Amino acid sequence: MSKDWKTRTKLVHEGSRRSQYGEMAEAIFLTQGFVYPDAETAEARFVKAGEDEFIYARYGNPTTRMFEERIAGLEGTEDAFATASGMAAVSGALMALLRAGDHVVSSRALFGSCLYVLEEVLGKFGVKVTFVDGADLEAWRAAVVPGVKAVFFESMSNPTLELVDIRAVSEIAHAVGALVIADNVFATPIFSNAVEQGADVVVYSTTKHIDGQGRALGGVVCGTREFIRKVLEPYMKHTGGSMSPFTAWIMLNGMATLDLRCRAMAESALQIARALEGDARLSRVVYPGLASHPQAALAAAQMGSGGTLVTFDIKGGKEAAFRFMNALDIIKISNNLGDAKTIATHPATTTHSRLPQEQKDALGITPGLIRLSVGLEDVGDLIAELQQALAAG
Ligand SMILES: *Cc1c(COP(=O)(O)O)cnc(C)c1O
Repeated sequence: MSKDWKTRTKLVHEGSRRSQYGEMAEAIFLTQGFVYPDAETAEARFVKAGEDEFIYARYGNPTTRMFEERIAGLEGTEDAFATASGMAAVSGALMALLRAGDHVVSSRALFGSCLYVLEEVLGKFGVKVTFVDGADLEAWRAAVVPGVKAVFFESMSNPTLELVDIRAVSEIAHAVGALVIADNVFATPIFSNAVEQGADVVVYSTTKHIDGQGRALGGVVCGTREFIRKVLEPYMKHTGGSMSPFTAWIMLNGMATLDLRCRAMAESALQIARALEGDARLSRVVYPGLASHPQAALAAAQMGSGGTLVTFDIKGGKEAAFRFMNALDIIKISNNLGDAKTIATHPATTTHSRLPQEQKDALGITPGLIRLSVGLEDVGDLIAELQQALAAG
């Protein structure tokens, strides 16, 4: 495939493989195994499988391979490994790399399951984890001491949309030889150039924008061929977290429209943020594309966009937030994001309900907080519905 292709061309064509039938659409190779013409071929393939030679779907599959090559082409990494979910990607990248006695520094504002993996799972196996405020470069500098093996962060945090300065944190990490692993879900593969900005490994939950239609769980780890094939693949293929060919086919189809969808959603998100900003019924509107966002300049430089989510705090706390949510119609109450359908989430009582109060306070997860994942509906309809629901709140 051509390295000169621009994003939209890659999203449609990169990694495509065609069988002897010359099918136009990507085929689903719904097969667990592969037949060898003779015993010698089987033996040789187990010693070293070539480019288009497969052994077992847990190790790799032609449809899954198409998806891996397409996303690696998009990210600008040498390789990628597709996983059964975003959490299989996050936990796989960390577990494959680390061993007892290693030290990791991570941002504190994490997706709940990421926090579980870093705090509980890594802790159980003797890995030391130091948490820092991801937006505070001084805190990163103080925590990333010689001997730190890896740095982990979500480049845009959930649900308060704080950014981590990828370039600056990568410089701090690389100065002590630490590997930078970025969970880039909120930034999307369209708005983020995390590898170009210094990250070594990028992980996605493809459940979000890449599928974009709320159909399938999936994940992917992007990195150097050395990391993907020598460090990650042995762990993933033997522990069982590989993506199914059917899911890979869904993700391949999602990729074709990813750029168009993310840009349309971000455009609507900006209009919604502007419509809500200054509303007397809200105590704050958080959107990295608004000039009022404390990291607006970083968002512009790092993503060239404010992204596809808007968070706002309704005065009147939980009761007002619930009245608002219950007055919605087009906008669905759920907890996915990056979907074609606009979704409202009340983090304090759902995605972040298990956090102790002091942690909610530290992360700014207040009782009136609503996270809006902006979808593909007409933005005028969405703004009208938000205004109507705010009147009910
Ligand atoms: C959803 C999400 C994950 C986990 O992905 P799953 O596909 O649900 O396993 C990890 N990190 C972030 C930032 C997410 O939003």
